[in-house]
Amino acid sequence: MWTYHPDLLATPVPRYTSYPTAAEFGEGVGSAEMAAALERVEPDTEVSLYLHIPFCREICWYCGCNTGAANRAARLDAYLARLSEEIDGVARRLAGRGKVGRIAFGGGSPNAIAPHAFLQLAEQAKAAFGATAPVLSVEVDPRGFDGAWAEAMAKAGVSRASLGVQTFDAGLQAAIGRVQPREDIAATVGLLRGAGVESINFDLMYGLPGQTDDALAASIAESVAMGADRLAVFGYAHVPHLIPRQRRIDAGALPDAAARFGQAALAHDALTGAGYDPIGFDHFARPGDAIAVAAREGRLRRNFQGFTEDEAEVLIGLGASAISEFPDLLVQNEKNAGRWHMAVSSGRLAAARGVRRSSDDQWRAAVIEELLCQGQADLAGISGRAAIALRLARFAALNLVRWEGSVLLLAPEALPYARVIASAVDQYRGAAPTRFSSAV
Ligand code: SF4
Repeated sequence: MWTYHPDLLATPVPRYTSYPTAAEFGEGVGSAEMAAALERVEPDTEVSLYLHIPFCREICWYCGCNTGAANRAARLDAYLARLSEEIDGVARRLAGRGKVGRIAFGGGSPNAIAPHAFLQLAEQAKAAFGATAPVLSVEVDPRGFDGAWAEAMAKAGVSRASLGVQTFDAGLQAAIGRVQPREDIAATVGLLRGAGVESINFDLMYGLPGQTDDALAASIAESVAMGADRLAVFGYAHVPHLIPRQRRIDAGALPDAAARFGQAALAHDALTGAGYDPIGFDHFARPGDAIAVAAREGRLRRNFQGFTEDEAEVLIGLGASAISEFPDLLVQNEKNAGRWHMAVSSGRLAAARGVRRSSDDQWRAAVIEELLCQGQADLAGISGRAAIALRLARFAALNLVRWEGSVLLLAPEALPYARVIASAVDQYRGAAPTRFSSAV
């Protein structure tokens, strides 16, 4: 059972899907650094690809993603044609170096594009990068998902899918601008299973306007009954000053911090009680799922897509705003669609901003990742350990962390505070705290 310590959650912290975080990205890093990083990829370097489809059938009010409405066919077609050029352009630079083991389609909603267009992109990416049998994953919006899409996924060999569910409660769905009847979600799961998708993730949310504990518990029970292999349970972050579309959400109906903490704890108890393994601080998986196996074997990782069993050291992001990750570099493509089109059409890499990772950054990145994924990390290689221990003294006094020499260990009850604890290792915090959300 978790104990609520509001003072420990008072400061917003990053989600640490990278370190340094995107808040540290600057203009001084771009296509030249990306080109040099691609040059350094060795023939046997493990590489994963991420293809960004920034379109959705309907835009949900809570969404902070870089996505737009898929209502203009010409705009969609132009984007896909350019993405196809970018795939070939980046593959040419790699010239056969790197072993691509995974290709992920995200967005936005990949199924906002036509199924044949998806299949064409998947086949092109496999051929261009010489990926013979990659693990293919796709983010799916149940709204509008159909048999033709499932067929395309089966042909492409997709084995992982992640569904944006958020809540099964019709009233809450209306309150967040994402109406999708239970029957549509069930039909999507049926189609995905029929297409041979082995692992299905449901994204759920707590902390929604007007959401009660009972409503959250009902959504979790429904997800378990539908056979979700994985669940990611996120707290809704209301930041309308950063995401203007959230202004449509009734801020007065949002659960307060204590209620949010209670809902995060409820989700954890309900899912572990239903036989799911906790993965990191907000994911859950059936014990036989690949991510649960990776977690048990100490191979769990964290990247831009959240907790993952993907162990590749290089992630190449393709599409407007997509982020690439190399051991010594984080770099993001142009967010502005027009500038992204121009860069790719002129044969340039579209990378526009990012951050070089110093060896100290890389040490800290590894420690933060281990704390979040394994619940412990050896800080022997990090300077300023005494200052970190001082920052964590209040957590130690509450038995949420303890030290064994230079190894920092989190207690199981420290899970809701994991991001805050990890932030003690972060060199950059304090610069822009309002860009982040509460850890719970
Ligand atoms: S479907 Fe997903 S990406 Fe698209 S608007 Fe809704 S939450 Fe955002």
